[in-house]
Amino acid sequence: MPNTEGLQPTNSPQPGVPLTLGTDIRFVPGVGSARARLLRRLGIHTAGQALFFFPRAYEHPAPGTAIGELRDGRPASLVGRITEVEISSRTAGKSVLGALVENEQGAVRLLFFNQPGRVEQLRRGCRVLVSGTPKLAGFRMEFIHPKVVLLEEDETAPGGQILPIYSLVEGLKQGELRKLTATVVAELAESIEEVLDEPLRALAAARIEGTLPGLTSPLCGITTALREIHQPSGAEALEAARRRLIFQELFVLQLALAVRRRRLTTALTAPPLPPTSLIDARIRNRFAFELTADQVAAIREVGQDMARQFPMNRLVQGDVGSGKTVIAQYAILLAVAHGHQAVMMAPTEVLARQHHQTLTRALAHSRVRIGLLCGSLTATQRREVLRRAETGDIDVLVGTQALLHGDIRFAKLGLCVIDEQHKFGVTQRQALRRGDIDPHYLVLSATPIPRTITMTMFGDLDVSTLRQKPPGRGAVHTYLAEDAWRDRWWRFVAQRIDEGRQAFVVTPRVCPDPVAADDAPATETDAGQPASAPAGSIEDEDAASVEEVTSAVVTFDQLRQGPLADYRVGLLHGRMTTQEKTETMERFAQGRIQVLVTTSVIEVGIDVPNATVMTILGAERFGLAQLHQLRGRVSRGTQDGHVCLFTDAKASPNENERLKTFSETHDGFAIAEADFRLRGPGDLMGRSQSGMPPMRIADLTRDETVLGVAREIAQETVDLDAELSAPSAAGLKKQVFRRYGDVLDLGDVA
Ligand code: ADP
Ligand code: MG
Repeated sequence: MPNTEGLQPTNSPQPGVPLTLGTDIRFVPGVGSARARLLRRLGIHTAGQALFFFPRAYEHPAPGTAIGELRDGRPASLVGRITEVEISSRTAGKSVLGALVENEQGAVRLLFFNQPGRVEQLRRGCRVLVSGTPKLAGFRMEFIHPKVVLLEEDETAPGGQILPIYSLVEGLKQGELRKLTATVVAELAESIEEVLDEPLRALAAARIEGTLPGLTSPLCGITTALREIHQPSGAEALEAARRRLIFQELFVLQLALAVRRRRLTTALTAPPLPPTSLIDARIRNRFAFELTADQVAAIREVGQDMARQFPMNRLVQGDVGSGKTVIAQYAILLAVAHGHQAVMMAPTEVLARQHHQTLTRALAHSRVRIGLLCGSLTATQRREVLRRAETGDIDVLVGTQALLHGDIRFAKLGLCVIDEQHKFGVTQRQALRRGDIDPHYLVLSATPIPRTITMTMFGDLDVSTLRQKPPGRGAVHTYLAEDAWRDRWWRFVAQRIDEGRQAFVVTPRVCPDPVAADDAPATETDAGQPASAPAGSIEDEDAASVEEVTSAVVTFDQLRQGPLADYRVGLLHGRMTTQEKTETMERFAQGRIQVLVTTSVIEVGIDVPNATVMTILGAERFGLAQLHQLRGRVSRGTQDGHVCLFTDAKASPNENERLKTFSETHDGFAIAEADFRLRGPGDLMGRSQSGMPPMRIADLTRDETVLGVAREIAQETVDLDAELSAPSAAGLKKQVFRRYGDVLDLGDVA
C-alpha cells in the first residue's frame, strides 16, 4: 500500500498507477535512477518531498519582446532556440563565444568574452530565455553577456511569468527541477490534505493583517498555495501562497512547542516550593543591595512557578551584568529552605568555579553546604562529591555538564539552574528526574536573543527579562580606532593601570598558525552561544592569507617587550590546561596580573570588577553579539569602562557595519536584533545545538508578525485541546509529531 505520508519511498515501480506522495522519486515520470540520486542529495526521496521542495528564489523576467521591437540600449527579453554556437580564441587565454538565437520573428546574436565554460550551457538546439540590454551591430541586435535561462521544450516562460529558482546540486539543472515540480504539482497538488480549515485560515489572515476576520480574505488553500509557489501566476498570488505556507510552517512548530510546554508543566510533577513570607524575607535579607524592578518581577515569577506542583521551565534573559545571578540564588535558596537540593550547571569549568565562589561567599555563615563537581576532579574526589549528593550531604552542587555524566543521584533534587543558554536536552532532563518527580528548571541566558528566536528555540519556556542594569554602574565607552592610534591607546591603558585598574587585551586566536584556528575545545568555550563567531574563525580567507591575524601568543610577547613592559602581563587561552587557566584567572582576580592577554575564552561570565579597560585586536573577526559579551567584562564595577577596537583589515573600521553598530549601541537586545539581521537566522539556530529542523520557507528575521500570530493561535488551540485530539486537528497533529516528535520528545503519533 502506498505510504501517503511521503516519508518512506515505495519500493516497486508501478507503471500506470497514479503518483502518490509516497512514490519513490525514481519512478516519477522523467526522473529515473541517475537523476533520483542527485535529487536525494537535496533531500527529495519521494514525490511528496518534491512537492514540498520550495523554490529558494524567483526570477521576474521582463515581458518577452518581439525581435522587431528590440531597441539599442533598452532592456529586453525573448525566447528562442540556439541555432549556432562558435568559439574563437584570439590570443592565448582570450576567447569569444558567439551564439545565434532564433525564433519565428528573426535572430539575435549573443556574445560572451572569456567565458569558455558557457559552451556547456549553450548547446545547439536548446530553447532559452535571454534577457539583457541589446546593442545594434550592423543590421542585427546583439546581446553582450546577457542572462540565459534554459527552458524545457514545453516550458512556457515569457510574458512576464515568474520563474522559480530551486537549490541545486551539481549535475542537476534548473529546468529539470522545474519540470519535476510541475509534474508533481499537476499530479498531486489537488489531493493534498488541507490541514488548516477555513475558519482557521480566516482567523490567521485577520490577525496577521491586524483586522477582524471577515475584513480580509482568508489565507489561501493548500492546493492553490502549492501550485502558486512552484508556478506563480503573478506576484500577488505568489505572495499569498508564501504567506499561507509560512504560516503553516510556523504554526506547526508553535503547536509542537505548545504541546511540549504543556507536557513539561501540567503533565509532570515537581515538589511545590512556595516562597512563604518568612522564607522570602530571609532570602532577600541576604542581598546586599536593593533589587532592580526587573529583578523583583523575575523573582516573583520564579516564586510563583516554584510554588506549583509541576516543574518551572523559566528562562531568565538579561544583558551581561544585569544581575541574573541574584535570581538564581533566590531560586536555589528557596529550594534549600524547603529541604531540597539544587544543582547549578555552567558551560565552562572556569565559570562553574566562579559560581561556586560567588555562592560560597554569598552563603557564608549559613548552613547551606555547597559542592563543586567538574571535569578536573580526580576519580576519588568525584566519587566523594557524588556520594555526598546522594546522601543529601550537599545542598547545592555547582558544576559543568560533567555533572550529568555517569550515574549522578540526588537525595532530594528540587531545582536545576542552567547558566548560559544550553538547550537543555531531554535525556539530560531525564537524568535529573527522581521516579516520577522532576526538579524545577531555571535557565539563565547572558546572550540577549532576538524575540523571534526566543519564541522558537526557547518557545517551550516561560521568559523573564532583565532590561535594567543595577544602579551605580559606570558607563562603558567604546572606541573604533585607526591603526595610528595604537601608541596613544597603550599609553592610555598604562595610565589606567597606574591608577590601579586592570586591563584585558582580546585577540581572535591563540597562535598565528592559521590551521589550528580553534581556541579551546568546544565544551570549554562558547559551544552553546548561538550568536558568536568561533574564536579564531577566519571569515575572510583572502585577508587572512595576506595579513597576519593577531594572536594572543604573539601579542603577549609584543606587549610585555614593548608598550606595557613595565607591567605584569599574563596570558590566558583555551589551549592551556584547566589548571593553568584557573591559576591565571585567580592571579588576575587578585590583581597580581595587571594586563590579561586572552581570546574569547573570557567571553563567558568572567567577573573582575577592577578590570575596566579592554582592547580588542582583530575586532572584525568577532561576531557582534560576541563583541558585546566581551564588552560586558569591563562593565562590572562602579568605574567607567573603556573598550577600544582595532582591526587587522586595512580598511578603516568605520567601514565595517558590524563594528559601527557595536560602538554606537550598548543595549544588548538591540545588538542581538542587529546581529540577527546581519547574520541571518541559520547561524543562530545552527549553533544552538537545538536540533531543530531548519525552516523550509519561513525566515525568522522577516516573518516576526506571522510568527507571533502562529504562536498565539497555537497556544489557544492547545489550551482547548491539549493533545490535539479533536478530529479536525488530526492532519495538523500528524504534521506536528512527524516533524517535531523526536526533537521535542513528543513521542509518536498516537
Ligand atoms: P549577570 O546577569 O551578568 O550574571 P551578575 O548577576 O553577575 O550579572 O551581576 C553583576 C554584578 O552586579 C554582581 O557583582 C552583582 O553582585 C551586582 N548586582 C546584581 N544585582 C544588583 C543590584 N540590584 N544592585 C546592585 N548590584 C547588583
Ligand atoms: Mg552571570
